[in-house]
Formats: sequence, C-alpha cells, structure tokens
Amino acid sequence: MNNYFIILASGQSKRFNSNKPKQFIKYKNKALFEHSIDKAISSKLFKKIILVINDKKQIKNKFPKNIKIIKGGKERSDSSLIGLKYIKKFKPNNVLIHDAARPNFSIKLLKKLVNSLRNNKATIPVIKPKDSIKYKIKNQLFNLNRENSFLTQTPQAFKFKELYNLSLKQKNKIQDEATLFIENNLNIKFINGENDNSKITFKEDIKQTKNYFGIGFDIHRLIKDKKLYLGGVQIPFHSGLKGHSDGDVILHAVIDGLLGAMRKKDIGTFFPDNKNKFKNIRSPKMLTPILEILNRNNFYINNLDINLICEQPKVSKHRDKIIKSLSSLLNLDKELINLKGKTVEKLGLIGKEKAIACEVICSISQ
Ligand code: ZN
Repeated sequence: MNNYFIILASGQSKRFNSNKPKQFIKYKNKALFEHSIDKAISSKLFKKIILVINDKKQIKNKFPKNIKIIKGGKERSDSSLIGLKYIKKFKPNNVLIHDAARPNFSIKLLKKLVNSLRNNKATIPVIKPKDSIKYKIKNQLFNLNRENSFLTQTPQAFKFKELYNLSLKQKNKIQDEATLFIENNLNIKFINGENDNSKITFKEDIKQTKNYFGIGFDIHRLIKDKKLYLGGVQIPFHSGLKGHSDGDVILHAVIDGLLGAMRKKDIGTFFPDNKNKFKNIRSPKMLTPILEILNRNNFYINNLDINLICEQPKVSKHRDKIIKSLSSLLNLDKELINLKGKTVEKLGLIGKEKAIACEVICSISQ
C-alpha cells in the first residue's frame, strides 16, 4: 500500500455566491472538505492524505497524524503540483487527486480506482451526460453526440511518476489531471463514475431537506345523542364526543402533530373554544388553515402514525374508511398513514367507555 490521496480545496469558488469559500461551508454537518478526508481515512487505502488549501487558519480540526495540510497555489494546477512535490519524498507508487467540492463519492469508488492502477497508469471515473450538449463554432451550433460524450469526475488515479513528470512539463492551465494524459496522447482507463458524485458549484447544490417530527394528543368525553366522528368519518355508535366542535379526536391530534412539527403552537391558538364562531365546527374545516401554513412554507408530510385509544368502537372495522378519509383530507397517500387501535383493559374513563383519546406522531420535511 503505497497510495497517497491529495484533496484540492484551494479553489476561489467564483460561482458560489457566498462570503465563505465553499470548501468551508457546512454540508451534512461537516465542512465540505471533511467528507473527503473522512472517507479517505475509512477506506484505509492511503499512507498519507494531503489537504491543499489557501488559508490554513480556517482549519480548526484536530486530524490524525497521517493527514497533512499544505498551502496551495494560485490555480488548481499549481495546487496539484504543490501537492505532488510535497509527497515526492515518500516515493509514492500511486496518487489519487480529488476536488473537495465532490463530497459524495463512495469508498467503493476509491477501491476500484486504486485496484485499476495495477494495470493502468491513469484511471478516471466518468458518467454519461444527462442533458444534451450544444457547442458553438463561430456562429454555427453543433450538437454533441451523447453516445460519444462523457463527463469526467474526481478522484482521478495515477501512477505517481507519470503524473509528476507530466505536471512538471505542463504549461497551460488545466481543469483536471486527466487533461495532461489526453494532451500527451497517453492511455487513460475510464471506469464508471457515480451519479451522486456531482460537483457542488452553486449554493443551490447544497440546499438540504430538513425533517421535523410533531406529536399530538387529544381526548374527549363520550355523551349520548351526539354523532361520533373519527378522522372525518361518521361512525355508527351509541354516543358521540363532547366538545366545542364535533370532538373528532383523530383530526385534533393530527392538527396538533402538524403544528408541533411546524413549530406553530397548538390547536387552541387557532381555534379558541371561547369563540362562538367555532361552535359546532366540523373538524375537517379546522384542517384548512393548518394545511395552508404547511403549503405556504413548502412543508410536506412524510407519514402519520395514529393510536386511537378506546374500548369501542373496534378500530379494525373502520380502519379503511378512516384512512381513506384522512388521505383525502390531507391529500396524502394512504400508504403513508397508519392507524392502530389500543384498548386500556377496561381501566379508567376510557375503559368504561366514557371517553376516547388519540395520539399522533407525524414527520414532515421542508
Ligand atoms: Zn379535541
């Protein structure tokens, strides 16, 4: 194992609209460049990992001894050569060069690249373009044949000696090390890259989905001569639920769960029970303003899990109807809603069929 890994993180991020260079931006709870370091360490493939950056003061991490941080040059190719010159004294066989702006490569890809150097002097991961590419010569437009085109990624793997010699001779600015082999008509082995291994160039590329959980609970007393509503469905039963509204414990718990996940207080804030205008309101109507907040803030529901706590009626008899109703009220796929029935061994108010309770947990994303 005489492999070295050079991570280039000294770019100026001109297209990345931010005060901070993008390699120091937090992505999935780590600075962008740390993803590459951590994967290189986990792979156990490398004797040394070299991080090339412009501003060493930006790094506050404590890294293991085999990680070396060095200052880069003006252009990408300068930084790459500085990295190569630094490792020369260790007499490396193989070197992988990687852009810190690609944090999502896999360890499997690292292994494939290193293995490929047994029979090749340069191995480059490539993927097929998803979009069609046009190019312009003078005023004429041409379509690039997608079958013959591919996009190059990093890490790129090389026999050290070959790459080092080519880098010393290089005169023009280059975008990647593969270019040196191409310009000198040398063979490159192309292997399949990874679609996930895309380059983070724009701020939008690291917009992340945020997930939140919410919990809801409700209980209402059962009284005679009232219709029973559960999840927006009328259920034949000897009693109904007492309340300012129709007493639908499922919908009320769902509303509180959603408000909880959105961090928007509780159902009482939206529907105070001392306000006459909400008297006898049907609970599906109470959902409307809640779903408006959800949509306005680009939240969407991932799933709902509901416990209905009562002796009677039996949940299994009404489960399909209730889920269908919730699915249409919430505009949510039936597969994402689960309803469980729970009795309380005839204990307490619920056990004596004097009340029905419900608890809900929901997950939403933004
Ligand atoms: Zn309620």
